[in-house]
Amino acid sequence: MGKAKTEAAIKRQRILITGKVQGVGCRPFVYRLATTLGLTGRVWNDTAGVTIEVQGPAEDIGSFVECLRTGCGPVKKPAMLKIATCRSIGIDSVSGEREFAIGASDAEGPAVSQVTPDAATCGDCLREMNERSDFRYRYPFINCTNCGPRYSIVKTIPYDRCNTTMADFEMCAACRGQYTETGDRRFHAQPVACPACGPAVQLTDNTGRTLESDSSRAIAQTAEMLRQGRIVAIKGVGGFHLAVDAFNDDAVKRLRERKQRDYKPFAMMAASVDIIRRYVHVDETAEVLLKGPQSPIVLLDRAGEKGDWPALAPAVAQGMATLGFMLCYAPLHYLLFAADGIEVLVMTSANISDEPLICDNDQALARLGSVADAFLNHNRDIYRQVDDSVVHIVDGRAAMLRRSRGYVPTPILMNEPCSADVFAAGADLKNTFCFVKGTQLILSEHIGDLADALVYRHYTDSVKHLQGLFEVAPAVVACDLHPGYLSTQYARLLGAERVIAVQHHWAHIASVLAEYDYPDRVIGIVADGTGFGTDEAIWGCECLIASLAGFERIGHLMYYPLPGGDKAAKEPIRPVLGLLKMLAGDNSYLRQYADILSRLEPDATRLALIGEQLDKNINTVSTSSLGRLFDAAACLAGLGNYNHFEAQLPMALESVADESVEDRYSSVIEADSNGTLLLDVRKMLVELIEDVRMGASAALVSAKFHNCLVYAMLDFALGARQKYQLSTVALSGGVFCNRYLANRLITMLKENEFSVLFKQRVPANDGGIALGQAAIAAKAVQSGRV
Ligand SMILES: [Zn+2]
Ligand SMILES: [Zn+2]
Repeated sequence: MGKAKTEAAIKRQRILITGKVQGVGCRPFVYRLATTLGLTGRVWNDTAGVTIEVQGPAEDIGSFVECLRTGCGPVKKPAMLKIATCRSIGIDSVSGEREFAIGASDAEGPAVSQVTPDAATCGDCLREMNERSDFRYRYPFINCTNCGPRYSIVKTIPYDRCNTTMADFEMCAACRGQYTETGDRRFHAQPVACPACGPAVQLTDNTGRTLESDSSRAIAQTAEMLRQGRIVAIKGVGGFHLAVDAFNDDAVKRLRERKQRDYKPFAMMAASVDIIRRYVHVDETAEVLLKGPQSPIVLLDRAGEKGDWPALAPAVAQGMATLGFMLCYAPLHYLLFAADGIEVLVMTSANISDEPLICDNDQALARLGSVADAFLNHNRDIYRQVDDSVVHIVDGRAAMLRRSRGYVPTPILMNEPCSADVFAAGADLKNTFCFVKGTQLILSEHIGDLADALVYRHYTDSVKHLQGLFEVAPAVVACDLHPGYLSTQYARLLGAERVIAVQHHWAHIASVLAEYDYPDRVIGIVADGTGFGTDEAIWGCECLIASLAGFERIGHLMYYPLPGGDKAAKEPIRPVLGLLKMLAGDNSYLRQYADILSRLEPDATRLALIGEQLDKNINTVSTSSLGRLFDAAACLAGLGNYNHFEAQLPMALESVADESVEDRYSSVIEADSNGTLLLDVRKMLVELIEDVRMGASAALVSAKFHNCLVYAMLDFALGARQKYQLSTVALSGGVFCNRYLANRLITMLKENEFSVLFKQRVPANDGGIALGQAAIAAKAVQSGRV
């Protein structure tokens, strides 16, 4: 074209792109795109995202913007680059420059998330790692702008090498060449490294004595130990795993003993989907999830008939109909799984009981020395511990159960910005917390159960660290309505200008609205364990009309008395007695159901004690908890009388349900004198007990129980639609982690022409509470109420 371009036709435009745009190869992509189109200008990272100035004919600038927006064009978009918004932020005067340049980071101005999640090893890096002639052949820390550690190694922003745990490693000439070459896949890949200049692997015994410091031999020796049934602690991306051969039942049992984790199923790792497919059903959705850069643990149904499951060690997940699998996601994993005889490994988070994940080398030796026989360790520090994320598939789509590695800190975006920064403290169980900054809801990784002192300290440290990392200064704080929650007490101590206490189940529904950025009122159906209600009762199965601005409780499971406070979640005999007392109306239940009760609790003295507690109303609450109703039903169905881990009995009940049964127990919904819809479960209990007395199978009892609840919740929705002319239903609460219930209810709601909002990106359990609290507080700020 040359001289055909007249001065007048040349324009210069400034463009801001936001989203997942930093540390993902965005600037080299923009550079290649601009130079291919013959445009000049520059691109740089700033605190809002990536800013571009392009100069050239208006038509070519148009093509450039189009390519950015659509991702289609002459230059391939990097896999991890996700552009959320792309807008023109002004037209500048034309400059005399002759080329397009990549600028350094600009850390001025208000900080917005510059930090992207950790990503699983990409195909290009894997190929290079297996290429004998490559200078990173078999290097366990190979990475590029499309993959590798991010969030777990960042200390502070801007995201540059000096602010990561890679700062101690001086790049060699070869690595630096790639790091500074604009056209290279490793241009500005902060963790870039090679055997000559980067971190190294080491195998030690459980006292820290080096067994092998050559990486290939250390990996080979680790494989040999695993084949012999030994337990090896392996340092990964976000923390240590405890690894053991998944076919060796004795070894898995030994791990359970040493880890003090008697019952919870263990997650497993394999190197290919084909191997995973031998043990579980992997459909297309599951395969995409397994292979994604987030590389979560995916819970999948076992292949084969019940009782005839392929030969994994039974102790991996005793009796469970689902198994949790993930693919290798770090180069070190691939190298280990390439060894002979390493096909499926248990890879469980290295912690003791419910304590935080261990990520520090010294701490690992000190705390895991009695658990692991050896340590496959390395010297790239993990700055933020991030657990493996866990997802399952509901209604044919991914639904998050634990949101951590690979997903955090990707923000959930709101349409409207919030003028004040917000901190939301979350719930006490499965805690996560959340910040609001501008249009971003930044949800933390899974923290854990705050009742554990070490978890609580990890929580307060993490709040402070992320507040610094994202440069948030919360003027408004949101927390749970429960005055006894540790998170509530912490929130109140922060000295914010304004504290907003949010009812637990409203927060559950708000988290759905936030995830979908849904602006209106919905019918909210909550299926949950327990949450503090506005009437000081303990709520759990609620029908709300809710928006981010407020809620009304239009229906709930009828209250029943629940004796025993915290013990009630462990000992299902407590809800059983409470429900039977409600059913009988007086103390005659002890006589009337003596046959059932003596079977569930042979200790007559204990029964009498809890009965007396109920009778005298000592430490007994009124509750509409659905979680405890599940505990009671599972116990009555003969599936056990203790929850060794949270929701063990409800999971067992779901696991046995006979999918072919359409029959159900009666559900009765009636309005009380205030017009509140009450789900009366007395008839259901009578029928269930009748079945149990007749010797019905747990599979049948479970199916009829589940189906009854599906219809009850459908009735809530139908009643709400009639009264409020709303037809969108949002579902949330921990009990919706039950796929049988969720799948059937979603199907029924859709058949009845409701549109259904079901949690996908954020857990339906209490791991989503902080997001709901944050969205409610942001709404209060946006509408000027705070
Ligand atoms: Zn890569
Ligand atoms: Zn190097």
